[in-house]
Amino acid sequence: MEYKIAVITGATKGIGKAITKELTMNGYFVVGLARTLPERNHDNLFLFDEKKVVLIKCDVTNEADVSVALNQIKGYGVVDVLINNAGVTSDNFFHKMTSEQWHKVINVNLNALFYITQPIYKMMRENKRGKIINISSVNGQKGQAGQVNYSSSKSGVHGFTMALAQEGARNNVLVNTISPGYTNTEMTQKISPDILCTIKNSIPLTRLAEVEDIANVVSFLVSDRCNYITGANIPVNGGLFIG
Ligand code: NAP
Repeated sequence: MEYKIAVITGATKGIGKAITKELTMNGYFVVGLARTLPERNHDNLFLFDEKKVVLIKCDVTNEADVSVALNQIKGYGVVDVLINNAGVTSDNFFHKMTSEQWHKVINVNLNALFYITQPIYKMMRENKRGKIINISSVNGQKGQAGQVNYSSSKSGVHGFTMALAQEGARNNVLVNTISPGYTNTEMTQKISPDILCTIKNSIPLTRLAEVEDIANVVSFLVSDRCNYITGANIPVNGGLFIG
C-alpha cells in the first residue's frame, strides 16, 4: 500500500474530526472510531475532501468492541499513526462526585488507552516504526476545580506517554502528548456562557483554540519533519498555562 494508515479515536467530532481531515489531506488512510457514526457513513465509508476514511462503531471502553475493531484495522495493514483522542468530562466538585462520574471519565480517558494502544503498539514495534499521540489537556497539567476525575485522567495520559516513549524508542516508536487548552468544540459548549467568558479573559491570547490549532500540531508531529521528539507534552493553550 502506498498510503500510511492512521487510527484516530473519537474521530467524528471536534478535535478528532479536525485531525481526521488534516491527516487525510496529508495522504493518510484514516480509520476513525466512535460510538455513534454520522449518517453520511454509507457502507461504513465517508469522504473528507475526496480522501478515504473508514469509520468503525466502537466504544473504546468496551474490550469486545475494541477487539472487533482491531481485527478490521489489521485487514487494512500496519498502522503508522495512532491518535488517542476520545475523551469525556463529567464535572462535579469532589465532595459531590459520584463513583459513576469518576469511573466514566477514567474509563474513557485513561483505561481505553490500554485497550487500544497495546495491540497497535505491538504492530508498530514489529514494524520498527510508529507514532502515537495522546490528547491530554491543560487541566491535566495545572488541575481544575470541579474536574478531579478529568484532571487525574489527563495527568495519567502524560504518565502513559513518558513511560511508553522510553520503551518504544529502541524500536523507533515515538510517543507524545498534546495538551490543548480550552477548544471550541461540543465539550466547551457545555460550559455556561458566563464561565466561558471568564475563561476567555484568563487566556493570554484571549480566545479559545480552534480545532485546527490542535490538528496542525498533530500534522507536524506525524510528519517526516519530526523524528526526534518523543516523551514530550506539547502545550497548545494560548498561554493559559506556561510550565
Ligand atoms: P468532543 O467534541 O466531545 O468529541 C469527542 C469524540 O470522542 C467524539 O467523536 C465522541 O464520539 C468520541 N467518544 C467519546 N466517548 C467515546 C467512547 N467511549 N468510545 C469511542 N469514542 C468516544 O470532544 P473534543 O472537545 O473534540 O475533545 C477531544 C479530546 O481533546 C478529548 O480527549 C478531550 O479531553 C481533549 N481536550 C478537549 C478540550 C476542549 O476544550 N474541547 C481541551 C483539552 C483537551 P461518540 O460520542 O459518538 O462516541
